[in-house]
Amino acid sequence: MTISYHRPTKAVIDLNAIQQNVTQEQQQHPDKKVFAVVKADGYGHGAISVASAALAAGAEGFCTATLDEAIELRCNEFTQPILILGIIAPSDAPLAAVYNLSVPVAEINWLQEAAKYFHDTSLKLHIHIKADTGMGRIGFLDTKEINQAVKWMEQEENFYWEGIFTHFATADQVDVQYFQAQTQCFNDILQALPYKPDYIHTANSATAMWHQDVGNMVRLGVAMYGLNPSGTDLEPPYPLQPALSLVSEIVQTKKLPKGYGIGYGKTYETKEEEWIATIPIGYADGYTRNLQGFNVLINGQSCEVVGRVCMDQIMVRLPKKIDEGTQVTLVGKNGGKEISLQDIAAYEGTNNYEVACLISTRVPREYV
Ligand code: PLP
Repeated sequence: MTISYHRPTKAVIDLNAIQQNVTQEQQQHPDKKVFAVVKADGYGHGAISVASAALAAGAEGFCTATLDEAIELRCNEFTQPILILGIIAPSDAPLAAVYNLSVPVAEINWLQEAAKYFHDTSLKLHIHIKADTGMGRIGFLDTKEINQAVKWMEQEENFYWEGIFTHFATADQVDVQYFQAQTQCFNDILQALPYKPDYIHTANSATAMWHQDVGNMVRLGVAMYGLNPSGTDLEPPYPLQPALSLVSEIVQTKKLPKGYGIGYGKTYETKEEEWIATIPIGYADGYTRNLQGFNVLINGQSCEVVGRVCMDQIMVRLPKKIDEGTQVTLVGKNGGKEISLQDIAAYEGTNNYEVACLISTRVPREYV
């Protein structure tokens, strides 16, 4: 998608906030390495800029979801360890090794299949064994199979067993019972290993914030962006600094008579003579259709989104005439008020992760 620079709509990313959030985590766990999770273009914040900021704050590695995201980091001269969190195709294993990437393995068949593609090369792929301890997603279910995989890798020169990890399903919840069951399961797996690899890791943001864990590395995602992984269920142990604001400007203000229809489907009709402004942002930018009725901030005042959200524009009701060119805050602070990604998530019935990721590539990212 073309980035639309010639439009006043932009996401402003505060890299200092990213750095502060990384520093806070490091102060909590000085004994653990921070791997900055920059998948999905850094949760919509821009992977390359976020990775640079995280590195400057002391992160020692990165996690991506896909091979391509990891290669993008390498092509931008990041030489630190990179762990891909999703399963890659066995046929891509040599490519991952060429780029010196680490990949998760969830079954021994994958290793055996991948081995066929190395032919006689001396390439070495770094492997993190993924244990499914209750997420029901990728991962070994069986301890015996994990040990078989370890043994198998010892005999294969193209594989280096670098790590073992698991992922928690409920680390962001008040009830810790399921978390404890997963922890127990992972500890049992660790006990049964013939020896320990370099990296043992279980912690996402929520685990790092609210639990003790056995790992020596943290996969820090949403908290690095200043967002609370629990939404509002749990209080962060340290203040998070939200990094992203979303702003635009009024492109037209007009007075409409009582009974005038607004937007597709005429789902809103002016109740009296009203000042209506048009803002150049819509669902193609990630400002989704179900935000009709939500608010934006203009001159420190909340203004309701009236009528359906269009693909590229929204209409808002103003308290009085406000000049074209006036700044509109869709996410962030404006006058003494603030709209957070979490406020949008709550209105939409989703989580703050999704709202951040959905801000489309059409919206330029400006770094401050
Ligand atoms: N580890 C794994 C395996 C993940 O899938 C994710 C994100 O989805 C993370 C770590 C980072 O999680 P969070 O953003 O909650 O810190």
